[in-house]
Amino acid sequence: MKRLLLLLLLTLSAWAQELTPVITGNTAPNADAQQQKHYVVLVSLDGFRYDYARKYNAAHLLAIAQHGASAPDGMIPAFPSITFPNHLTLVTGLYPEHHGIIANEFYDPARRAKYDFRDHSKVTDGSWYSGTPLWSLAVKQGMRSACFFWPGSEAEIAGARPTFYLRYDDHFPDEQRVQQILTWLKLPPAERPHFLTLYFSNVDHAGHEFGPDAPEVAAAVHHADIMIGKLEDGLAELHLPVDLIVVSDHGMAAIKDRIDLDQYVSFKGWVTVGDLIYPPSEAAAQQAYEKLKNADPRLAIYRRADVPVNLHFNSNPREGDPVVVARGPFAVRAEKPLEERPLTKGNHGFDPYAMPEMKAIFFAEGPDIRQGVELKPFENVEVYPLIVKLLGLESPPVDGKLNILSGALK
Ligand code: AMP
Ligand code: ZN
Ligand code: ZN
Repeated sequence: MKRLLLLLLLTLSAWAQELTPVITGNTAPNADAQQQKHYVVLVSLDGFRYDYARKYNAAHLLAIAQHGASAPDGMIPAFPSITFPNHLTLVTGLYPEHHGIIANEFYDPARRAKYDFRDHSKVTDGSWYSGTPLWSLAVKQGMRSACFFWPGSEAEIAGARPTFYLRYDDHFPDEQRVQQILTWLKLPPAERPHFLTLYFSNVDHAGHEFGPDAPEVAAAVHHADIMIGKLEDGLAELHLPVDLIVVSDHGMAAIKDRIDLDQYVSFKGWVTVGDLIYPPSEAAAQQAYEKLKNADPRLAIYRRADVPVNLHFNSNPREGDPVVVARGPFAVRAEKPLEERPLTKGNHGFDPYAMPEMKAIFFAEGPDIRQGVELKPFENVEVYPLIVKLLGLESPPVDGKLNILSGALK
């Protein structure tokens, strides 16, 4: 029995050691003026569609809508409605073509190099990113910050890093993520971060694997909601002025079909990454456009400069040319791969204005948030100015404007 216990302890401690550690940057303590400021915890529930809270009765999130502010008809993600572009938009207030992370994976024709969110050497290389993430903005103004995961948080951006951050590990237990946020907020006032991020991926995973209407998604939503409840309980015990903001990056749609563009045009001599296509010349771009523009009525094809302005996707060479915009739930690829993978049941990335299923969530509560405010759909670039205001920081110029969400403020 004793041996068994020892074995169990050893296994547990080995498992505990495997958890990725908190990395501490060399940030100064909070400046005196910053110690008086309120706190913001920004939580992202990846792939949490705008209607999931009601559809699956997420009690804690629905209660936040009662105590604070919410967007019952959703928050509008930036195009493309995928993870890295939208997380960076939320924390920079910039459209993807301005912060530079225009997809999870893309090519930069000037650098002749690829960014890939699965490649640690790329996600940690600050030269891929533009704008000033909230955690960098805070640190540069003498206020500490902490990221329990967030795309971009492992790179030095705008000359700064979060005070505390971790290497991304999808398997890090969710409850311990919540505990770490509370631990950070229990540090002495000079050391305690005022801006914190927290991230969960389970709802996105379930949505991809089973589709948005599956019982597995209901269970994933329930789990994420329980994490929010635990966070709220922990925050209440701290008696600190914390504003809690819960968002997602995009929604999820049931996938109908796959469309391969190379059945209409050959991409030999081109670079392609997913549905992004990079022409070897202007003439090649125009030729491909002519061949693709009427190829499939389910797709909208544009020369990059002509992409509709509401998508803010017409000025960055990383976007390729021509640009494909899927208006329906179709998995688009430039080239059919040699080894076919099964189609996932759910996906996202589509035009958020054509497909309401792409819309994300916004919930906020705390000492600075008015009670029971229901916001009309707004773009996620507006979150940055709100948080800058809550933290009393000086903002750089961004695409978002404070007046859109100021109605949520006390
Ligand atoms: P998407 O299909 O666009 O929603 O991509 C979601 C994937 O991004 C999830 O499977 C996460 O595991 C992954 N992911 C989220 N945050 C990070 C991060 N900070 N670093 C690397 N991968 C991440
Ligand atoms: Zn996502
Ligand atoms: Zn996803």
